Amino acid sequence: MAFTHRKETRPVKVGNVMVGGKNEVVIQSMTTTKTHDVDATVNEILRLEEAGCQIVRVACPDERAANAIPEIKKRINIPLVVDIHFNYKLALKAIEGGADKIRINPGNIGKREKVEAVVNAAKKKRIPIRIGVNAGSLERHIIEKYGYPTADGMVESALHHIQILEDLDFHDIIVSLKASDVPLAIEAYEKAAEKIPYPLHLGITESGTLFAGTVKSAAGLGAILSKGIGNTMRISLSADPVEEVKVARELLKSFGLASNAATLISCPTCGRIEIDLISIANEVEEYISTIKAPIKVAVLGCAVNGPGEAREADIGIAGARGEGLLFRHGEIIRKVPEDTMVEELKVEVDKIAEEYFAQ
Ligand code: SF4
Repeated sequence: MAFTHRKETRPVKVGNVMVGGKNEVVIQSMTTTKTHDVDATVNEILRLEEAGCQIVRVACPDERAANAIPEIKKRINIPLVVDIHFNYKLALKAIEGGADKIRINPGNIGKREKVEAVVNAAKKKRIPIRIGVNAGSLERHIIEKYGYPTADGMVESALHHIQILEDLDFHDIIVSLKASDVPLAIEAYEKAAEKIPYPLHLGITESGTLFAGTVKSAAGLGAILSKGIGNTMRISLSADPVEEVKVARELLKSFGLASNAATLISCPTCGRIEIDLISIANEVEEYISTIKAPIKVAVLGCAVNGPGEAREADIGIAGARGEGLLFRHGEIIRKVPEDTMVEELKVEVDKIAEEYFAQ
């Protein structure tokens, strides 16, 4: 069963990527370099692009960072989001410099003229604004009202910022409601989906290291996605951001929400194992990571239960005493020598991917 988006939100254009509406969930990440270091930032973004990142965000803490935006834009291929806190001058500079979206909370900008200046500049360039609500930095009046960060408080904060933009007739809005507490984030996104007609950007903030953060993000975002909520997402990890993209893609694949990525099915191994399955599975996973077709590839330790256990696989191999069995949709197509079976599998994978694109 493939999950679909329950909420039909307003579609919002970020550069050449549509977010919301009937579009697939878009994968985002954020650079870890100093934004003013253009070479380092561009290199990281190009690595993210290769991994499947569809929108990238950079921090803009100062003027040096804002000044780097035009040069970064020139050298990358995916939409660029510029993240600004409070400073409307940096927002104006980022917009002027070619940002495809800015992340700033209008309620934090200050005087109305400043908010208007930013909104008018965004309107002129037809770029959206992301409102980023974070449970850890809710406005004082909201904390006073609720006593501590709650889902209702987070949604109220989002609605407060949305109202400011709507009053200025601005509607190209994307909203995030991040918390590092998983149940709180789930509740906040559920409540937001009921009240907010704009696309929701999902994230569990400060989720931790590669291992712990992956589990925590998958638990939280998986629960949210399973309710049909979410239009774009970032996995936040204390790790190379390329890992964030890999985790996001894997998560979307688990829900049948990624039409541009191949999936590996591999068995957990048991006493019947006939091949060095773990290293083969890792090699095949790496190989298919750049394939942009939704094909399923299986790697199984033995032929006893193997092919039958992976009937949904478009292609697979199973170990069989010194050789491998190549199979498609559970049917064995031929035997291959063990030392060449991975190479033969790769050739078959390429053929199936080509067939998919030729359809
Ligand atoms: Fe065990 Fe074979 Fe199943 Fe792998 S495919 S778990 S080796 S029975």
